[in-house]
Amino acid sequence: MIDAQRIKHLNAQQVNPQGSYVLYWMQASQRVVQNEALSHAIATANSLRKPLVVYFGIAEAFNEANERHYRFLLEGLKDVQEGLLEQGISLWVYGNGVVEGLMQLAENVVALVTDCAYGRLEQSWRREVARRIPCAMVQVEANVIVPVETASLKEEYSAATLRRKIEPMIGYFAQKQEPVHLQQNSLSIQMPFALVDLDDIPGLLASMHLQKKGGDRLLMRGGEKSAQATLSHFIEHGLALYAEKRNDPGESVSSHLSGYLHFGQISPITVYLAIKDEDCSSVPAFLEQLVVRRELACNFVHYNPLYDQYACLPLWAKASLESHASDPRPVLYTLSELEGAHTHDRYWNAAQQELVALGTMHNYMRMYWGKKILEWSADPEEAFQTALYLNNTYQLDGRDPNGYAGVAWCFGKHDRPWTERTVFGNIRYMNDKGLERKFSMQRYLDRIQEAIQI
Ligand SMILES: Cc1cc2nc3c(=O)[nH]c(=O)nc-3n(C[C@H](O)[C@H](O)[C@H](O)COP(=O)(O)OP(=O)(O)OC[C@H]3O[C@@H](n4cnc5c(N)ncnc54)[C@H](O)[C@@H]3O)c2cc1C
Repeated sequence: MIDAQRIKHLNAQQVNPQGSYVLYWMQASQRVVQNEALSHAIATANSLRKPLVVYFGIAEAFNEANERHYRFLLEGLKDVQEGLLEQGISLWVYGNGVVEGLMQLAENVVALVTDCAYGRLEQSWRREVARRIPCAMVQVEANVIVPVETASLKEEYSAATLRRKIEPMIGYFAQKQEPVHLQQNSLSIQMPFALVDLDDIPGLLASMHLQKKGGDRLLMRGGEKSAQATLSHFIEHGLALYAEKRNDPGESVSSHLSGYLHFGQISPITVYLAIKDEDCSSVPAFLEQLVVRRELACNFVHYNPLYDQYACLPLWAKASLESHASDPRPVLYTLSELEGAHTHDRYWNAAQQELVALGTMHNYMRMYWGKKILEWSADPEEAFQTALYLNNTYQLDGRDPNGYAGVAWCFGKHDRPWTERTVFGNIRYMNDKGLERKFSMQRYLDRIQEAIQI
């Protein structure tokens, strides 16, 4: 049984008795294991004595996503296909749009189940489908531990304000989902359109004419299997050092799970349950990021409709930046100079190179990177959009609530006013001297050079 607080009815339609199957429209939770939306869909199919089909629609123009993101997604869908097949469930992947493919199935659907995402585009798809589909549609929140509206009914001011609310609820919601078995196999149901062939991902990517940004040779592999392997590797090799070393750019001790969490290829509950009882002093530091920080970002995107615009910032931050708008900048860089890592700052350049080549960036360097874009841009609003564009385009985990919250944090969101200074006003400042004081930055430069050259 899925907790009722995860479930939302998206329309007032009834179950369609004329339909042939229950449909799970998989969008944000691209996995088989610990997927509350899938479990709810199987239970619904069993109770209606119908088979279950899983549908995934590929949108070719999805925010700033490009070839590297689609490759990761398709690798993930291949794992999903195999996992569903073992349970007698068909995965139908449609290649020409999300809503379009769904609507071709509409008349045959008895009841529609989907998962939950917080971004504007994903929400608008759900609203459109709920309006047009002639059957009951429910959404199951499966990519957070505590459902966002249960954790809080408003946009939270900071991690501290959310922490107080969410911490007492974690134990209740972080429950292992036992597999639910489908009673009526759907493998022989005739599909109404040509399916995307997940056995030929390179061919598929070539046929999609996607933008190519950064290489893909060095990127992580997508999918549930890689996600589980990455989690196990972290528990064995990273967790013990996490609290002490996670901020050090010369080290790489964090979990590297953010891409998998972004695509829903692993559940935060799976990660939480695997970590929480480890006999290790780093556990609280890690869970603070996984639960409080990550779910604060979901809270932000869910409740703040301007989450991807400069206007989302707190009033004090905008007022302070405004009052320093005409301060002379130490240097100004164009977008293409930034994108090409052609600045005077070798640490910043290394971070940007890491991003372009590997599709990721060390957490501490993400903060430094965003702060410098603010310092080197003619005005803060332009800086905000530049940071978001680079983040969404190159980060494998980009276009995620964490990315919107992370960029906004560099401009004062979820933070407090600091001592006033030029350009930044009261926004927290970071500089290269601070990096050198705290860490061996040469080790960072060496680490990135080595990683990029492999
Ligand atoms: C400017 C900027 C941009 C960022 N862009 C993104 C982005 O596009 N996508 C993204 O997922 N994260 C983003 N972050 C947050 C954070 O840097 C990454 O989640 C983290 O570095 C991912 O590495 P990891 O999985 O090894 O993290 P770990 O340290 O192992 O943490 C485990 C998980 O906790 C969550 N987490 C960790 N740090 C944060 C944080 N500061 N805020 C919210 N959740 C966190 C992530 O889901 C992460 O996978 C950004 C931060 C900043 C400052």
